[in-house]
Amino acid sequence: MRFTVHNRLGLFLTAAMLLPVVLILMGCDGDAKKAGDDLSQRKINVVTTTGMITDAVKNIGGERVSVNGLMGPGVDPHLYKASAGDVGRMQSADIIFYNGLHLEGAMAELFEKMARTTRTVAVADGIPAERLVSPPQFEGMHDPHVWFDVTLWMDVVRHIEKILAESDTVHAGVYHVNAAAYLARLAELDASIREQVQTVPQNSRVIITAHDAFNYMGRAYGFEVRGLQGISTATEAGTRDVQELAMFIVERKIPAIFVESSVPRRTVEALQAAVEARGFAVAIGGELFSDAMGDPGTPEGTYIGMVEHNIHTIVHALIGEKK
Ligand SMILES: [Zn+2]
Repeated sequence: MRFTVHNRLGLFLTAAMLLPVVLILMGCDGDAKKAGDDLSQRKINVVTTTGMITDAVKNIGGERVSVNGLMGPGVDPHLYKASAGDVGRMQSADIIFYNGLHLEGAMAELFEKMARTTRTVAVADGIPAERLVSPPQFEGMHDPHVWFDVTLWMDVVRHIEKILAESDTVHAGVYHVNAAAYLARLAELDASIREQVQTVPQNSRVIITAHDAFNYMGRAYGFEVRGLQGISTATEAGTRDVQELAMFIVERKIPAIFVESSVPRRTVEALQAAVEARGFAVAIGGELFSDAMGDPGTPEGTYIGMVEHNIHTIVHALIGEKK
C-alpha cells in the first residue's frame, strides 16, 4: 500500500516534471520547423547591423535575399541600442549578420538571446584570429573596425557566402558566382588604394581622427594612425589626449586631420584649436566614413564607394591639395 501510494505519487511527480520538458520540446520543434523550412523556395530574410554588412549581403545574396539593415547613415554602432521594432525584425529573420568583436557594444546580450532561436553570425568570425589586431588602447580586446583592410573584408565576404550557401544549398552556385564577382571588385579596390598611397610622401602618411577606426587601414596600406578616443566612441576624449595629439601634429607638421560621419565634429575641432594655439595650422581634411556609410543612392552609400571616398579624401589632404 505504502509502495502503491509512493508509486502513484512518483508517477504524478514524474508526469508533472516531464510536462514542462515536453512543452519545451514542442516549442523547440516549432522553432526548428521555422529554421528548417525550405529556404530555397523563398527569399531568405536577413537582418544586418552596419551598412557595410548590409551591402556585402546584398552583393552576395542578390535576388535570393531580402535584407533589413538596422543601422543607417551616420549611425554609431558602438552606441546603437536596438528598438522594439529591431527586435521584432530580428525575431522573424532567418539569419542575423552582425560585425562582432564588440563593435555593437550595446547589443551583445540581444545577439546571445537571438542565437537560441535564429542563426546569428558575427561576420568577423570569418577572419583568421592572427590577422586581428589588439592595440594597447583597446585594453586587450580586438579592434572591431575590420572593414578598412579590404583583404580582411574579403574574408568576411567569403564567410557570408559560406553561411548563405549552407542555409540554401540549392542556390549555393548563385552565392558562389555573386561572391566571386564581388571579390574581384574588392581585389581591384585594394590594388587601387595601394597605388594612391604611393603618391603621399612617406612622412605625411598619418591619419588623425576622432576615434580609432583606422588601425586596420593603417596596417594594410602603410599609414600611422592616431585617434582621440579609444576602442569605442563611448568614451570621450580627455583634455590631455587632445594636447598630446596637438603636440604630435605640430612636431610632425601634419597638414590635415579628419572628421568622421558617425562621430560629432566638435572633438576634431577642439584638436584643431589646440594645434592653432601652438602656432601651427592644421586643416580639417574632409569627412571620412568610419563606422557608417553614406546615404543610399550616393556612391558613398556602398562599401566600395565609401572606401574610395575615404582614400581620395585622405590622399588629397595629405599631399596638401586644396579641397
Ligand atoms: Zn568605431
